[in-house]
Amino acid sequence: MEHHFLELAHPTIQHLKPYLPGKPINELRRELGISNIIKLASNENPLGASKKAIEGAMDALHEIALYPDANGYELKHKLSEHLHVSVDELTLGNGSDSLFTLIAHAFVPKGKEVIVSQHAFIAFAITAHVVEAALVKVPAQDFGHDLARMAANITKDTRLIFIANPNNPTGTWVTHQELQTFLEQIPKHVFVVLDEAYYEFMDQPDYPRSLQLQKRFPNLIITRTFSKVYGLASLRVGYAIAHPEITDILNRIRNPFNVSSPGLKAATFALDDQDFVEKTLQNNQQGMHFLRKEFDAMGISYLPPTANFITIDVGQHALALYDALLQLGVIVRPIHNYEMPQYLRITIGLPEQNQRLIESLKSAIVKV
Ligand SMILES: *Cc1c(COP(=O)(O)O)cnc(C)c1O
Repeated sequence: MEHHFLELAHPTIQHLKPYLPGKPINELRRELGISNIIKLASNENPLGASKKAIEGAMDALHEIALYPDANGYELKHKLSEHLHVSVDELTLGNGSDSLFTLIAHAFVPKGKEVIVSQHAFIAFAITAHVVEAALVKVPAQDFGHDLARMAANITKDTRLIFIANPNNPTGTWVTHQELQTFLEQIPKHVFVVLDEAYYEFMDQPDYPRSLQLQKRFPNLIITRTFSKVYGLASLRVGYAIAHPEITDILNRIRNPFNVSSPGLKAATFALDDQDFVEKTLQNNQQGMHFLRKEFDAMGISYLPPTANFITIDVGQHALALYDALLQLGVIVRPIHNYEMPQYLRITIGLPEQNQRLIESLKSAIVKV
C-alpha cells in the first residue's frame, strides 16, 4: 500500500536530494568482495588521530551511561586558551555542519535569502533549504568565491552569506585583504559564516587572520572542526567563534547534548598534541608535492590545490574513471553535484596510498 509520506513532508524537503558522502570502504568491500581498499574521498586524516586523542575517547567510554557535559566546559576552556578567545564566544557543534543549520535556524526566517558561491561546499545549500530560505547562488570566478559579486547580490531580504575558505571541492581561497574589503560592504544585520574547516593546513601569509576580523565585524561567525587535521571525523566535533550575544542565541537553540563525551574528551586531548598536527602537515605537504609532480608528468591538469586535497580535471570521463578506480579498490570523489562533472577530488594520503592512486589511475585511464 502506498503511503505518500513524501507529500506530508515540508514542501522544501520534497525536492531535497540527500548529501552524497564518499563511499565507505566497507560498502565497496561488500559490493566487490575485494580487500585492500583505500579511501581518498572524504578529506580524512590518513595518519588517523593522535594517540592522546584516542586515549581521551577511550577514557570517556567508561562514562557513556551518563549524558555528556552539556556545556563542554573542558573543551571550551582548552579552546579558549589555544585560540585566545573568550569562552563566551565559543559554541560547540556535532561537527561544524550542525553549526550551519543552527546559525540558519537562529537568523534566517523562512523566505529570506542565503547567498552562496557556485561550486561552494554543498552543506550550505542544504542548510538554506532546511530553513526554507531562498538560495542565491552567485557565479564563481576561476572556480572561487567572487566576493564583489556576492556583496552586490545583497538585498533587503539577505540574512546570511556562506564563505568556505578554502572551499571544498575547489581549493580556492580568499585573502585577508579581500575578506576585509568584503566585510566592510556588508550591512550589520547580514551574518557572514566563514567556514575554516581546513584552517590548520593554510600557511599562506595572506590567509585571513579571521579572529582579528571577527573582533572588528561582529556579524562574522567563524566555524572550525576537529574532523580534518585532528582526524576525529567520526566523533563529530566542530565549533563556532562568534560575538558573545550571537553565541548566547546559538546556545539557546542548541541541542544540549550535541557532542558526545568521547568526542569532547578526544578533542580536548587532541589540542595538547600539536606534534601530531605537525606530522599531519608534513605528510600532507610531501604527498601534495608527489601527486602534483605525477599529475604534471601524466599531463593531468588540476585546480591550484590547498589544504589536504587536489581536484583534477579528467575531461568528460570522470564518472567512468571513478568507477574504474573503484574496481581497483581506490575510492575518490566525483563532484558532478558541484556542477563539476569533469573533475575528481582526491584526498592526499600516505605515501604508499598516493603511489597506489597514481598506479591505479594509469591503468584505469586507458580503460575509459
Ligand atoms: C569537511 C568539511 C567541513 C567539516 O565538517 P564537519 O561537520 O565538521 O565534519 C566543513 N566545511 C567544509 C568545507 C569541509 O570540507
